[in-house]
Amino acid sequence: MLRAAFLGCALILPALFAPALPGRFVAGNVQISLGHDCRHICHGVSRSISPTTQVFSPDIAHWVNSSSQISACSARPGTAEDLGSIVRELGLTRTPFAIKGSGHNANPGFSSTPGVHISMARFRDIVLNEEEGTVEIGAGLTWTDVYSYLVPEGLNVVGGRMDGVGVSGFTLGGGYSWKTNQYGLTIDTVTAFELVLPNGHVRKVTEEDEDLWFALRGIVTKYTLKTHKQTDVWGAVLDFKGDQIEPAYTAFARWLFVDHDHKGAQMGAITYSKGTVGFQLVLFYDGPEPPSCLYVVKATIDDVKTLGDKLGEKDEDALIVFNLGAIESDIFTHGGPSVYPPDPSRTILPSSVFVEWNDESLDKDGLSASISKAGIYDGQDLKHAAHYTNLALYGTPLEMMYGKKVKRLREINKKYDPFRVMDLTGGFRL
Ligand SMILES: Cc1cc2nc3c(=O)[nH]c(=O)nc-3n(C[C@H](O)[C@H](O)[C@H](O)COP(=O)(O)OP(=O)(O)OC[C@H]3O[C@@H](n4cnc5c(N)ncnc54)[C@H](O)[C@@H]3O)c2cc1C
Repeated sequence: MLRAAFLGCALILPALFAPALPGRFVAGNVQISLGHDCRHICHGVSRSISPTTQVFSPDIAHWVNSSSQISACSARPGTAEDLGSIVRELGLTRTPFAIKGSGHNANPGFSSTPGVHISMARFRDIVLNEEEGTVEIGAGLTWTDVYSYLVPEGLNVVGGRMDGVGVSGFTLGGGYSWKTNQYGLTIDTVTAFELVLPNGHVRKVTEEDEDLWFALRGIVTKYTLKTHKQTDVWGAVLDFKGDQIEPAYTAFARWLFVDHDHKGAQMGAITYSKGTVGFQLVLFYDGPEPPSCLYVVKATIDDVKTLGDKLGEKDEDALIVFNLGAIESDIFTHGGPSVYPPDPSRTILPSSVFVEWNDESLDKDGLSASISKAGIYDGQDLKHAAHYTNLALYGTPLEMMYGKKVKRLREINKKYDPFRVMDLTGGFRL
């Protein structure tokens, strides 16, 4: 079984289940996969093959399989109103449920459940409003879908950096984009949400709804984002090994800390695989030609090597990818008041550490130990460095992400979700 970690029903719609036909069918505007039948089939198939093959129905599949669970059933609502009916039913019956955008969150149980799995896959509409300079994006789309639609129009939004990541989870958690240096986080560019509240009512939420704008509670079916003009862009992926690594990360650090150019963005990744440390740089420039300077961080290469060697002794297939996201210091000046980061005057450079191993006995080997604790031990000033929601490991206390603003989140939650319906689903608990 492949493991991965970031160191950074029966009661629902009983009438629809009555036919008990295997496979998928459409009832009203909701598509249902009959998990009961699928579950037996999936288990049967899983038993007959080696662990290197994965068996999942598409709705419950995730970017890393340690985030998937076999659900009792999977529903694909087609309208916000139907989703509202489902949420009402789930709340009344206290049934655990999951909401999945594109399934890229690596925390177990955040967008998966043994209960009712809700896939947003049918919310796929994109509607451009050129006059207002906005686009409405369905909650089941990925950034790849969005770019395919907008770029031929000469337009774009502040979206994801990699193929396949969901618009939904990415935006709700903040969203660090190639364009964040210019326009802020994706969430800063949202002008409206269509939201199914925990009581099942559908509502449009804008900046005027002060509480919900600050602490959205429920399931989003549609996002309205600001658009901007898009030219061709320049990009490069560079791989460095051995002696090449030091000059490469020095140049990376230079671009990051010296040659500020808001159109530029870069991501460095320190990798460890089979005893070899590598450094990969992904460079992005929001224009057709590269900038005149090329590119910083005497950082953690030695640490990655030490951790890799240790892990490699136990599992020779272990892989580590330490991503260094590079951003400018003024990125939190774009949006209005928001819960993340707790202190917008302090720029955060969110970095994710992805560790992958095959040997299940290593699952509890302390690999998920807090990176910031290690940093503080090394003498770094990380006391007020907020964890980024979309990369924070499950179990991270809310205060480490939102500081004192958690109090207001709890008050708003009480008002909009008095019966704690959203506690039945995954994610961080209020
Ligand atoms: C390959 C890769 C690249 C990445 N690149 C970046 C990056 O460049 N910048 C960045 O900031 N982050 C990045 N991330 C992190 C990414 O933003 C998070 O993993 C995000 O949660 C993914 O969104 P999703 O919809 O695919 O995830 P899901 O796993 O489907 O959902 C994530 C969470 O959001 C909730 N959710 C999903 N849809 C809804 C909805 N409609 N309403 C309410 N809640 C919902 C789920 O319940 C779950 O708790 C990356 C992750 C991966 C794996």
